Amino acid sequence: MAKVRRLMPQHPRMFRARVVGTERVSPSMQRVTVTGTDLAEFPWLGYDHWFRLFFQLPHQRRLLLPEFSGSQWWQPYLAIPERERPHCANYSVADFRQQKAELDIDFVVHRGPGGDIEGRAAIWACRAAAGDALALLDQGVLFDCPRDASEVTVVADETGLPAAAGILRSLPSGTVGRLIQEVPTAEDRRALNGPAGVTVSWVVRQDSTSVPGVAALRELRRLSCADATGYAFVVGESALATEGRRHLHRLGLPKDRITFSGFWKHEKARAA
Ligand SMILES: Cc1cc2nc3c(=O)[nH]c(=O)nc-3n(C[C@H](O)[C@H](O)[C@H](O)COP(=O)(O)OP(=O)(O)OC[C@H]3O[C@@H](n4cnc5c(N)ncnc54)[C@H](O)[C@@H]3O)c2cc1C
Repeated sequence: MAKVRRLMPQHPRMFRARVVGTERVSPSMQRVTVTGTDLAEFPWLGYDHWFRLFFQLPHQRRLLLPEFSGSQWWQPYLAIPERERPHCANYSVADFRQQKAELDIDFVVHRGPGGDIEGRAAIWACRAAAGDALALLDQGVLFDCPRDASEVTVVADETGLPAAAGILRSLPSGTVGRLIQEVPTAEDRRALNGPAGVTVSWVVRQDSTSVPGVAALRELRRLSCADATGYAFVVGESALATEGRRHLHRLGLPKDRITFSGFWKHEKARAA
């Protein structure tokens, strides 16, 4: 994670839950709706609220969670014998309905060269059935817009779509700015609720073999000036996050007014 998370809870809480249902909301997005009595107390902050998701791998018979106090969950997690250790991956709250204690998680369905679904979380989401156990470790929000920001720029690939949608929904109605949102196909575009002054540019990947984030970065680079008193939030494939930040900083946006986070790393970048 690239920036200090000032809005991260000091004592993050683990919320046990179970799957209620699943839905393919668009060709590349699988929604899993979860509930549980714990979730009635989930301290949802809107924006890009995110969490660590724990679920069982196919060979595991029960969901074994790390026991910890304070914020030090990683060591207890690693101390669980590998065969019994649940999988852990980061996700954003796509939506939350407190009265029903229901939370939606949107998983990007990504495929390998042979067309099979890849990624342990995406595979889990596509196979999830009502009653399946999981747990969420609250991590708060990354979005950290200064009060005096004159404009807001949000840039994301599809992994950042749930976060971007949540940010738009949470921004004060008078906010001005832009969202540059990359998606794999035109059918992955969706209606977004946000301030009228925030323009939404959908960038549809023309080539299914191109690296996610490249097209959004190209669109961002068309921006030739940035208000030095603005704020930007750039997330998605790691090169989009780092190069996007570099471009915005070159345009005059101070580094402390840019939140950037590599949500995942493409294999090609990983091998480099
Ligand atoms: C704060 C935060 C919030 C996030 N919110 C969301 C969210 O709401 N929805 C969401 O879908 N993702 C989200 N992500 C990204 C998600 O955590 C990663 O995609 C993660 O790798 C998925 O976990 P996994 O266990 O399935 O991957 P792994 O099993 O570890 O990955 C397997 C392979 O898949 C590749 N891969 C991973 N993600 C993608 C992808 N999207 N496209 C193509 N290849 C990929 C990896 O490079 C790796 O080679 C978020 C990440 C962060 C840090």
